[in-house]
Amino acid sequence: MPERPDSAKPVLSSVEGGQPPLREAALFGLCPRCGARTLFAGWTAFAPSCNACGLEFHKFNVGDGAAAFVTMVVGGIVMILVIVVQLVADPPWWVHLLLWIPVTTFGVIGALRVAKAALLWSEFRQKTGEAGRQ
Ligand SMILES: [Zn+2]
Repeated sequence: MPERPDSAKPVLSSVEGGQPPLREAALFGLCPRCGARTLFAGWTAFAPSCNACGLEFHKFNVGDGAAAFVTMVVGGIVMILVIVVQLVADPPWWVHLLLWIPVTTFGVIGALRVAKAALLWSEFRQKTGEAGRQ
């Protein structure tokens, strides 16, 4: 068996040699088949395939639904926080810019990674389940 690079080894001991549960796969960007942290090649872009097990991520169709949903949810949460901060502290307008632009940007990116990883994990489980029934 070829030696895997360090980045391709399973992150958590609970996924050693097996498929990670949804929560861990979504939070840490783990490959749904082997549990290695190889799912993302960029901030929110999937890698073409897993370096450890060869699972081809580009064959899964996660779609853009997650992006629209996540953006609306994060936007709603941020707007509630903006209103609360305005009512409690009444800061100058530029404080809102300095505070909420980074919070929104990183909130959307983080939530999008979790949502996309969860959708890919779900699609992988569905396909392997269907393959087992034939
Ligand atoms: Zn893998």
